[in-house]
Amino acid sequence: MQRYSLVTLARNAFSNHEDWSPAWRKAEPQAAYDIVIVGGGGHGLATAYYLAREFGEKKVAVLEKGWLGGGNTGRNTTIVRSNYLQDESAALYDHAVQLWAGLSRELNYNVMYSPRGLLHLAHNEHDLREISRRGHANWLNGIDAEFLSPAEVQQWVPPIRIDGRYPVLGALLQRRGGTARHDAVAWGYARAADRLGVDIVENCEVTGIEVEGGRVKGLQTSRGRIGAGKVGLVTAGHSSVLAEMAGFRLPLASVPLQAMVSEPIKPVLDVVVMSGSVHVYVSQSDKGELVIGGGTDSHASYSQRGSYDMIEEMAGPLLEMFPAFSRLRMLRQWGGIVDVTADRSPIIGASPVAGLYLNCGWGTGGFKATPGSGHVFAATIARDEPHPMAAPFGLDRFRSGALVDEAAAAAVAH
Ligand SMILES: Cc1cc2nc3c(=O)[nH]c(=O)nc-3n(C[C@H](O)[C@H](O)[C@H](O)COP(=O)(O)OP(=O)(O)OC[C@H]3O[C@@H](n4cnc5c(N)ncnc54)[C@H](O)[C@@H]3O)c2cc1C
Repeated sequence: MQRYSLVTLARNAFSNHEDWSPAWRKAEPQAAYDIVIVGGGGHGLATAYYLAREFGEKKVAVLEKGWLGGGNTGRNTTIVRSNYLQDESAALYDHAVQLWAGLSRELNYNVMYSPRGLLHLAHNEHDLREISRRGHANWLNGIDAEFLSPAEVQQWVPPIRIDGRYPVLGALLQRRGGTARHDAVAWGYARAADRLGVDIVENCEVTGIEVEGGRVKGLQTSRGRIGAGKVGLVTAGHSSVLAEMAGFRLPLASVPLQAMVSEPIKPVLDVVVMSGSVHVYVSQSDKGELVIGGGTDSHASYSQRGSYDMIEEMAGPLLEMFPAFSRLRMLRQWGGIVDVTADRSPIIGASPVAGLYLNCGWGTGGFKATPGSGHVFAATIARDEPHPMAAPFGLDRFRSGALVDEAAAAAVAH
């Protein structure tokens, strides 16, 4: 496996870039593994990487029914931040942000983490109180938060209209918030995990989960039976489908979340702008496209397509705030299936089946957590006990009532 560097780049330039080795092997599934991760999105691949790197696990496989990152990892709007309200969430998401900071170097793969700053706008008295409460909670947790006046917002975001139909009364800024490159995160983890001996098996759909005496024994897949000592389910919007195969139900709903991008334009926006109360957020990708997202569809579905009503839902409020964007043409629109829990927090930990672990319920905001999620989930699987940061996010909280309620602090009011 070639190490990516200036020297390798130069050497390959002399051979017309025809000699690059594949980033990861096309592994054939073996008869059995110590640990099988189902789902080759960012979270599943990160879990496999940390299992091999930090916990020395030697026989690990990732099974992906399609192509790596073809789920929500490759469909999301790539916002990274950690300014959550509750202590438990702040710890988990900030763990991820700290890992993002060194990830390109660690993986020897440019994940294009760009801490360009992220603004949550306040348009009314309620919003001002919400950002004030959350910003102060962030300070108590050692997370960077700054309050901006309307004039400062205008300086940060020149094209925004602060005195329009949705007046801007202030904003909460997290400077370490920003974006990363979605595909690169999946590919970077895949390449690094493969290097450590993890088998990454694409086009391998799990169709059944074998449970004997309350313990997981193996998986039926479209490429034959695979024995497994432990299994991690990391299948986002399809988690309830997999749970049903193992004989239990999960407290989550699978709903589409849509996004769209404009044609590429010259740089106009070098921060991420989010507005909870008008239900839209926007950033500009390194290619120049405006990346625009909004709220979830109002019905449960497994459709990954865009719909006309959501174009209007996103474009309407966006243009009230950014009238200059009205001449832009939209390039693409799509959907992903997000797995939403009642408290809008993830589920990380044991399942009712021994040896079967869950990492799901990230809903509309799991991309930002990818490195932290993989790290604490790997520890949980390897040690057979919850990592301290994962402990509050166990399935039992839906029985005990100890929810980690983040609904009010979601980026947009999902
Ligand atoms: C439009 C949109 C915008 C979003 N914006 C943001 C954002 O800005 N910031 C943020 O933090 N989060 C965002 N999210 C949420 C984020 O994308 C997800 O929380 C995160 O990517 C989940 O990663 P994952 O690896 O768990 O899931 P996925 O990437 O979905 O991976 C799960 C994988 O499991 C595979 N799979 C499913 N069933 C099976 C099976 N039976 N056998 C084998 N494999 C199977 C799927 O093919 C898939 O590849 C957004 C989501 C969407 C849809």
